[in-house]
Amino acid sequence: MNIYGIKRTDLEKYFLDINEKKFKALQVFEWLYVHKIKAFSEMTNIKKELQEKLEKDFSLKMITIAKRQEDKYTKKYLFKLFDGNFIEAVLMKHDYGLSVCVSSEVGCNMGCKFCESGRLKKVRNLGAYEMVEQILLIEEDIGKRISSVVIMGIGEPLDNYDNVMDFIRIINDPKGLAIGARHITLSTCGIIPKIKDLANEDLQINLAISLHAPNTQLRNKIMPVNKAYKLPELMECIKDYIDKTNRRVTIEYVMLDEINDNETQALELSSLLKGLNVYVNLIPYNETNNIEYKRSKKDKILKFYDILKKKGINVTIRKEFGSNIDAACGQLRSKEVNL
Ligand code: SAH
Repeated sequence: MNIYGIKRTDLEKYFLDINEKKFKALQVFEWLYVHKIKAFSEMTNIKKELQEKLEKDFSLKMITIAKRQEDKYTKKYLFKLFDGNFIEAVLMKHDYGLSVCVSSEVGCNMGCKFCESGRLKKVRNLGAYEMVEQILLIEEDIGKRISSVVIMGIGEPLDNYDNVMDFIRIINDPKGLAIGARHITLSTCGIIPKIKDLANEDLQINLAISLHAPNTQLRNKIMPVNKAYKLPELMECIKDYIDKTNRRVTIEYVMLDEINDNETQALELSSLLKGLNVYVNLIPYNETNNIEYKRSKKDKILKFYDILKKKGINVTIRKEFGSNIDAACGQLRSKEVNL
């Protein structure tokens, strides 16, 4: 078992099972996430025999950075996993701190027509340790603390629910990386039963829904997931989530030229969201070589924004990051051809 994928509560159970005190888990967490040691032998307040037992039961081995690409505000990391698969994560420098966009799967099965990440079918889920290590390795690489995390890289996080929940609890642990729940955002294309589960987790994280279309007909066309989890039910589910958690939900809407960006669609989106505690993030589409969709014209985006605003919907236009190093939303891939 890789130790970076184990929650403190599970580590406590482990220690109790071997007749050790539960607080050992806390000590181990501090060694891992505060002191960032590289060997169990460095855990000096843990007796030698126990260090050896830990060494036998757990691994400290991390995935590796295979490549970095950088521009002014962004650094994209390609990671090589133990089985030879690759994933990517992106570091973003904001004026309020550093955030990392992590991947949750190798490939993705959701098949959104506009997204590069989905062109490679899902190979497997990432383990919680592979998500935690994306953050640890980036922190080590830059020598600075990451203050927020978005689960918006390759993969559909709610299609890898248990591992993603473990990941969140590990990085959120005050004795771990201590990344506040309100600084963690999970983005989903709308897996309804899992959104319901998430509402019961008692976690104050931010939920973002990739909506991208104001009606069923269009959503079916660009997001096949809509055939399984239909728009009216998704809207109902978002409403219940808000009622239950008292948290505002983000609606992501990628602006695709001549597809979902006209005035009628802006009005339709406004009525769909009327009265809901949501805020809309309009995402200028990042074009890729392999997909024919184009980014909406600037004046269309601004017009769309104005209409929502006039209709009383909270809306912002997403600041762009990393598009010149293919590190922007929807440009991440699991396969790297020219290493
Ligand atoms: N599977 C999750 C998270 C990954 S994608 C989800 O669907 O939400 C993160 C966001 O980027 C999603 O809103 C996705 O629809 C959007 N996106 C995908 N391709 C894009 C592109 N080329 N340009 C801009 N945003 C894109």
